[in-house]
Parts: sequence; C-alpha cells; structure tokens
Amino acid sequence: MAKKSHEHHDRPHRHHYDAEMLSVEEARERILSYFSVLPAEATPLVDSLGQVTSEDLVASFDIPPLANSAMDGYAVIAKDTAGASKESPVELLVTGVIAAGQLPDHALEPGNAIRIMTGAPVPENSDAVVPFEDTDELERRDAGGSSESISIHLQAETWDNVRGAGEDVEVGETVISRSQILRAGEIGLIASLGHSSVKAFRRPVVAIVSTGDELLQPGEDHQFGKIYNSNAYSIAAMVTRYGGVPKIMGIAKDTIESLEKALEDAMDADLVVTSAGVSKGDYDVVKDVLSSKGQIALWSVRMRPAKPLAFGVLDRKDGTKVPHLGLPGNPVSAMVAFEQFGRPALRLMLGKPLADKPTIEAIMDDPIRNHDGRRVYARVHAYRDGNGVYRAKLTGNQSSGVLSSMALANGLAICPDDIGMIDVGEIAIVEMLDWPDDIF
Ligand code: AMP
Ligand code: MG
Repeated sequence: MAKKSHEHHDRPHRHHYDAEMLSVEEARERILSYFSVLPAEATPLVDSLGQVTSEDLVASFDIPPLANSAMDGYAVIAKDTAGASKESPVELLVTGVIAAGQLPDHALEPGNAIRIMTGAPVPENSDAVVPFEDTDELERRDAGGSSESISIHLQAETWDNVRGAGEDVEVGETVISRSQILRAGEIGLIASLGHSSVKAFRRPVVAIVSTGDELLQPGEDHQFGKIYNSNAYSIAAMVTRYGGVPKIMGIAKDTIESLEKALEDAMDADLVVTSAGVSKGDYDVVKDVLSSKGQIALWSVRMRPAKPLAFGVLDRKDGTKVPHLGLPGNPVSAMVAFEQFGRPALRLMLGKPLADKPTIEAIMDDPIRNHDGRRVYARVHAYRDGNGVYRAKLTGNQSSGVLSSMALANGLAICPDDIGMIDVGEIAIVEMLDWPDDIF
C-alpha cells in the first residue's frame, strides 16, 4: 500500500501560522509551570486505583508465611514414595488431616501421610505433596468413607507441590517502591501485606464553574431558548477519568459580580476550571475577573477547536494561589482543551510522569481541512481494516458546538498547524481518547 506522509515537504496547501498564538506545546508547558505534585496522604486501598505511591513499602513478613501445599492431596516424605507407580503403589498410613487455616498438630513420621488441603501448611518432616489424582483417594472414597491408609501411585520428588515460605514476598523486601502507579496488581499486593491503606499523592480536587446566562442545570425543566450545562458534566467525567475529584459548582451569570461570587466558593480546590466567557463577546468576563482577582497568563492557543483559552492564577484570601483554567464554552472545545491542558495538570499533581496521550497512525477515510494555520483536532472513529491497518473516519459535523460527533469519536486525528489538509488516503496521527495506558 502506498502510504503518504504529511511530513512531505513540497506538498500543496502549506501555509503560515499565526505566531502570536501559542502552540499547544508552548501553552501546555507554561500552564504546567504553575502546578506541583500534591501532598501525600494515607489513602484507602479501595480508592487508590491510579494514584501514585509516595514511599517504599517493605514487607514485614514472608508471603506465604509458611511452606504450604499447592494441591489438595497427601503430605509425604518424598523418599517414602521411591519407585511408586500405579502398578506398584506405596501404601502409607494416614495420621491426620490439615485444612487451610489450620496449623499441623503433629509431625509426619516415616511411612505415614497426612491429608492436606491447598494452602494448608505442610507438617514438619514433610517435603512433598502428592495430589489426590496420583493416589487411590477416589477409589477409596467411592468404596465408602475414610480409610486408615492411602496408596501412592507416583514417586514424589522433593518439594513437589510445596510452595516455599517467602516464595511470593520475602520479609524485608521492598514490595512497592515510591512513585509507583497503583493498578489492581499492586493494590492486591499491598492488601496481601495486611494494609488497608497506602500512602499516595492526594487526588486533585477540581472545582468546575460554568458561566453563561443561557445555561440551565441538567435536571431543571427545559426552557425554550436555553441550553443545558453539559460542559460541567463532560469536564467532571474527564476529571474523574484522569484521577481527580470533580466538584460541580453551578452556574455563574455573565457578570463580573456573579462570576466573582462563584469563583470565591471554588477557590479551595486545587484547580478551578471555568467554561465559557473567554472569547471576544460583550459578556465574556472570565478574563476580566482573572485579571482583577489574580494574574492572567495566556489567552489564545493555535488549535482548532479551542482557540480561546484563559489560564492564570487566582488569589485566595489566605494569600495562596490556585490555578485557573478557563476553557472555551463550546462543548467540544471545552473537552479538547481539557484533554490537552487539564489532563497533564492532573497527572502532574498526582505525581505521574507526563505521558502523552496514546497515539496511532491511521489512514484517513475523509479529508481533514485546516483553514487558518491552527492544529486541527478532528473527531474520528479509528478502526482496523481487514488487513489490520488503522484507518480513521470523521464522525460527523466538526463544528466545535457539535457534541454528538465527539460522543461518536474514539480519537482525535491531528492536522498540524502548517498543513492545509490531510487528504483521503494520507496518514494522520490520532490521539486515542480512551485507551487505558492514558490513565496509568
Ligand atoms: P461563550 O464562550 O460564552 O461564547 O460560549 C460559546 C458557546 O458555548 C455558546 O454557544 C454557549 O451557549 C456554549 N456553552 C457555554 N457554556 C456551556 C455549557 N456549560 N454547556 C454547554 N454549552 C455551553
Ligand atoms: Mg457566554
């Protein structure tokens, strides 16, 4: 297949970008310089998925604590079974039974066997377990009831079916090290050491303030001419997805007073996110408030959607500052901007490495057009074709207000700012929205 690269030099449609605006990377770097990792705290294990450990965890005992059986069977002395086979079994006297959770009450003597269940500690002197399948256990059981002795059908080798003490974890071992991201496996391992909590960097609390006289809160009765505040919910979902704790603060009117009041309640968060009110309209007051109540840092990024963006810090009453990300109001713009700037900020606060979104290269089924020298993030559905090659199809209307095409998308295909178009059949890099390596 002929693959064309969008890095090709003499392609048509190339045009110049607006140097006044920041690139996504420049904006991200500036924004991130205002964040630092949050303090660590004891976190219940059940809530810790995706958080990052702040200290090493050392085992204070062996796992398993004692040598124990890996099978349901008979604890034996391996050399007692020398030469045993189905045809010439070795008969051993059964002197007891040990269930999981019990400790053996007597040592194993030569010529004897002790019934043992999986996980039960092997008795003193025993150095192998013969599984029921390699004995006449079932025949004897069918013949009715327990018996005094058992026939062994297999020669056991030393330590057959015995799990050694400390085989999993040894006392003194560093089981989890600082800066480790907690996934199910790590969480289980910590629980196996008896801990119900883990010291991890705190989750960032993100206050979400929506602005706009036109907004209704979902749950309120529909009113003609008004629109529902969807941004708070899509942003809250992304905050949760990237490990933060969203706090939906409600709706501010398009006045400085109303916004100031709403921000006051939001400022004890680790990050304040507003939506809307950052473009050039008459009622776009976010930047005014950010300038008067804090310091504004930037306001325009060379990307589509989501060109209008505000970022700065708000001054808390106690003299500390809280970062404020002013997202555009259009629902897709707000989401795309949060992916690009909110996500890395959350990762940084959580103590995670600043991994980029996972990307693939896909052949475009539709063209992506770039009218004005901004990096375009096009909503696509990426899939593998019959040959296992990634392709990507636009999910519909790419207007920044059209949320349905965002809901259909599993990725954002990128047209670089200095490229006028990625044509059908050309390759685009696609940032995958929901691949799990994006969280860990
Ligand atoms: P603005 O940035 O205030 O000019 O808003 C841009 C567009 O986004 C307008 O069409 C708004 O109605 C829409 N919008 C603003 N806030 C929200 C919100 N919270 N949920 C959904 N749409 C919104
Ligand atoms: Mg508005």
